[in-house]
Amino acid sequence: MKGQKKYAKDNCEVRNRYRNRKYLFNKQKALKYKGGCVVCGSTDDLVYHHLDPNEKVCNMALLFRSNWKKIKVELDKCIPMCVGLHDSLHRELKIFTNILKKNRYNLKIRKEKLGY
Ligand SMILES: [Zn+2]
Repeated sequence: MKGQKKYAKDNCEVRNRYRNRKYLFNKQKALKYKGGCVVCGSTDDLVYHHLDPNEKVCNMALLFRSNWKKIKVELDKCIPMCVGLHDSLHRELKIFTNILKKNRYNLKIRKEKLGY
């Protein structure tokens, strides 16, 4: 019983080590494939930003444990960015989206007033 438990634990550790190695390997490969941050060129703390959120199938960080073929398909929809800039991009996007929504709403009101 004791031995069995130890075996299961070792097995789990081996699997985790293998997964982590695969993750790091694919991350390196992605860096070579896409290059550094498109804005500042940094190669540290990169995230992959989906240019069209509708095309997003999976978060890249989760996908790095998958096979390269799947990773490449997803990477082709993304641009590399460092974490800090990616965060501010999404903050700005939210602001702009709200402004656009408000403008569209105002336009609708104006059209209604004018009787279009
Ligand atoms: Zn950057």
